[in-house]
Amino acid sequence: MTDSRIPLQHQGRRGASGLSRRRLLAAALAAPLILGVRRQSAAGQDGAPLAIATTTGMIGDLAANIGGDRVVVTSLMGPGVDPHLYKPSAGDIRTLEDADVIFYNGLELEGRMTDILVGIARSGTPTVPVAENIPEDLLREPPEFAGKYGPHIWFDVTLWKLAAQRVKDELAAVDPGNEAAYQANLDAYLAELDTLHAYVQEQLARIPEDQRVLITAHDAFGYFGDQYGIDVRGLQGMSTATEATAGDIQALAELIAAEQIPAIFVESSVPPATIEAVQAAVQDRGFDVAIGGQLFSDAMGAAGAPEGTYLGMVRHNVDTIVGALASGEAASTPAA
Ligand SMILES: [Zn+2]
Repeated sequence: MTDSRIPLQHQGRRGASGLSRRRLLAAALAAPLILGVRRQSAAGQDGAPLAIATTTGMIGDLAANIGGDRVVVTSLMGPGVDPHLYKPSAGDIRTLEDADVIFYNGLELEGRMTDILVGIARSGTPTVPVAENIPEDLLREPPEFAGKYGPHIWFDVTLWKLAAQRVKDELAAVDPGNEAAYQANLDAYLAELDTLHAYVQEQLARIPEDQRVLITAHDAFGYFGDQYGIDVRGLQGMSTATEATAGDIQALAELIAAEQIPAIFVESSVPPATIEAVQAAVQDRGFDVAIGGQLFSDAMGAAGAPEGTYLGMVRHNVDTIVGALASGEAASTPAA
């Protein structure tokens, strides 16, 4: 068994070997690697759809739109799940092992899955970070995190279009017989993303310029702010793995009271306690700041709900932000 290992080069970046006979043979011969025997499906060879596994729901939605009826997508992280803290279950690992292609975000979003993703990639499964082909000069590097790029690329729709292209390229590499279908699906989805991008620009323009300040639980909206011209302050940093301190809360409360910012926002994948603490600290300073609603930051809403798709979650967020900041009056409904 020891001499029948799969070549160790990282095939995930191009997946050019696809489902070649050689790869199937190698997979069949492979001893239990880090994660046990990989059960190779016959996807792409007998017309069966490709089994796609993704980390976040946003990436799953992207793969489903571009793969169409050629793929069956399983996303590990459902509504309300925080990808920064997520540790895969035994069932998740089986899903990854059984997949023909794995898409994840990269840029350390899935910080606690790195070892598992590396192990799966070594077993020969194309394992692709969708952020991979975003040029470095378009990535954010907040000064307090020098040397690391922010992972929340999906809220700049123009960057998500690059992720869509990356997904299409990989599907076409693994299943070249259906490249035309993937290209057609990509073209249709890129048009929807263009429509969404225009919607975000139009709606945010309704907020008076001096009220374009977005305060949320963690720094998930930095790319959004850069692209669409809104000043974003997250209570926590780029990851939720480090908690906000009492000093952070007081400093943010001081800013809100001084600038009379009308509303702040909770996030669906972050417990609301810290944002509620900010609200209380603002009240201590004699100013009332509303909770403007719940934003979907690092996870989509429930399947079947409007926010259960990427397009719907972005629209929900924009409508919620504009509703709370455009008039100077917060939305009447607090977070769910
Ligand atoms: Zn995040």
